[in-house]
Amino acid sequence: MARELKCPICGRPTFWKGNPYRPFCSERCKLVDLDRWFSEEYRLSVPRDLWEDKEKEGEDGKV
Ligand SMILES: [Zn+2]
Repeated sequence: MARELKCPICGRPTFWKGNPYRPFCSERCKLVDLDRWFSEEYRLSVPRDLWEDKEKEGEDGKV
């Protein structure tokens, strides 16, 4: 059974198994995340986990 998860960038369902870009759905989203990560680190030095949680709330609106 494949593990399904949501891409943290675009929120689309994606799969863990056999996905070279996990936990993202595509290379594009992976790059977006990297870019954000560097930007955030520059500005705030916030641990990555914190702002990932914030982002989930914003995208789903029902967490
Ligand atoms: Zn994505």
